[in-house]
Amino acid sequence: MFILIIISTIHQVINEVKKMKGFAMLKIGEVGWIEKDRPKCGPLDAIIRPTALAPCTSDVHTVYEGAVGDRHNMILGHEAVGIVDEVGSMVKDFKPGDEVIVPAITPDWDNEAALRGYSSQTGGALGGWKFSNFKDGVFSDYFHVNMADSNLALKPEGMSLEAAVMIPDMLSTGFMGAENANIEIGASVAVLGIGAVGLCGIAGASLRGAGRIFAVGTRPISVEVAKKYGATDIISYKDGDTAEQILEATDGEGVDAVIVSGGGPNILIDAFKIAKAGSTISNNNYFGSGEGDRDTIPLPREGWAYGMGDKNLITGLCPGGRVRMEQLADIVTYGRMDPELMTTHVFKGFDKVEEGLELMREKPKDLIKPVVLIED
Ligand code: NDP
Ligand code: ZN
Repeated sequence: MFILIIISTIHQVINEVKKMKGFAMLKIGEVGWIEKDRPKCGPLDAIIRPTALAPCTSDVHTVYEGAVGDRHNMILGHEAVGIVDEVGSMVKDFKPGDEVIVPAITPDWDNEAALRGYSSQTGGALGGWKFSNFKDGVFSDYFHVNMADSNLALKPEGMSLEAAVMIPDMLSTGFMGAENANIEIGASVAVLGIGAVGLCGIAGASLRGAGRIFAVGTRPISVEVAKKYGATDIISYKDGDTAEQILEATDGEGVDAVIVSGGGPNILIDAFKIAKAGSTISNNNYFGSGEGDRDTIPLPREGWAYGMGDKNLITGLCPGGRVRMEQLADIVTYGRMDPELMTTHVFKGFDKVEEGLELMREKPKDLIKPVVLIED
């Protein structure tokens, strides 16, 4: 017993002085590799060593548009699968060595907003989004997870890392888009933007039983996957006005639900124009550019029936937490949707996160989502 205590104390002391490497936002517009102290583990928390990482369009908004404000030497990344390295004294369900899916959003579950059902907004707007926003993210040798029992989920045995790492954000956000859109069986849906988030919106709309699904985008690889996930009509926003094309295809009626997952600040103009009375416009977009609280996002006066059109706009941040991850893992395990169709680039080695992020910034034609596998 005495020897065990000594070993555990030595382990703790070693961890406390350990340094680690991370890929960080140095300031707005600038990224680089930095060294930091290994994070400390509180009693309810865990320290994770990543095994698979995915860069996100949101990282691009954060760094290159300074969307959530300046951050200095903040490690980037919020999409990870990893191995538990250390747990706090009060963690019950996880132990070192467990392979886990880590949600992009890790709320404080005892917070007032969580208790009201809005866990992503705990501690203020977007407060559940801690990684690469309010604290160091997952592009690191080690990273910290608060409330491990409520925020981690075991990765099912046999699930590929490429599939599992799509769960923390892409599946959770894209499916939220479909859930928030209140899609009835047989409803018509338009998904504006078919990167990985919009593609998951299409898959989610299919799972909810949508009838006709319009997919708006141009990258050929995305179009191919959109069809596999259930899109019935492909619209190119480059071939003319998106709203006009969808209105023409629906005899001027528009659609029952719109999921917004791409386009710039004017995209809600298209969304409102094609939304029928009683429909829901479900926004997933992170409107990254702007000048803080002086900036506005336009809505169309006529398309909104002068503010009286019975059209609902709903917004949301990716749902996080353990139960959400477990449910999404079941979607994959039981073959409801294959996330690996979105993995167009697989890199090996931690250093490749830099290249992965740059790809997300450039968005070449053959890209949907890069994944970085960390090798020992
Ligand atoms: P991508 O950049 O990969 O995809 C954007 C899509 O929008 C592409 O299909 C693109 O078309 C399309 N697009 C561009 N311009 C228009 C236009 N004018 N009209 C219609 N479609 C257009 O992005 P992601 O899928 O990675 O992410 C989508 C958004 O979701 C981002 O803003 C991201 O930050 C946000 N996000 C939000 C989260 C949340 O919690 N709410 C979580 C994660 C991401 P093309 O095929 O031509 O490239
Ligand atoms: Zn993301």
